[in-house]
Amino acid sequence: MLLTEIAPPRFDVDLDLRYATADNLTGRPIYHRALCLLHPDAASALARAVVLARGIGCRLRVYDGFRPAEAQWRLWQVLPDPQFIADPRQGSSHSRGVAVDLTLLDAEDRPLEMGTGFDDMTPQSHHGRTDLPALIQRHRACLLGIMVAAGWTSYPYEWWHYQLPAAGRYPLLSDSVTGGKLLTT
Ligand SMILES: [Zn+2]
Repeated sequence: MLLTEIAPPRFDVDLDLRYATADNLTGRPIYHRALCLLHPDAASALARAVVLARGIGCRLRVYDGFRPAEAQWRLWQVLPDPQFIADPRQGSSHSRGVAVDLTLLDAEDRPLEMGTGFDDMTPQSHHGRTDLPALIQRHRACLLGIMVAAGWTSYPYEWWHYQLPAAGRYPLLSDSVTGGKLLTT
């Protein structure tokens, strides 16, 4: 397959793929199975982030990676707000396999307090907020530092979202690259 599967033991990450559960903004599973895929370039950058996170005694918990173009339409139908959901006509970097949603876990595998949950589409999720408790700002800065040092770029409105620079040079992909195995019907 064109995409690389992100899973232990090859990638020392914790997987919490919310779109394979009902615990996402649509309230129902979008993925048929909990499968995290990334373009090989993004997989390499994630491997660097794994090493950097380990350096500060943390691990990465991944919420989403490749999101087939069809899935982007389903999210858009629920929340047609381009600040939080990429317009599927333009395409999401997730649908190019070069974006990842994630957080940091401490040495006991507890998620670091980030002030909001994943996919909390509110201003509290924006980067660069100075009105959050210092510890939360520090945690977000840790994740930001790890990801940027590993070659990712941040997105101003979502602390959990990172993508490769110039993501538009990668093609949009449909579920056909997984053999149609990822999406629910
Ligand atoms: Zn994202």
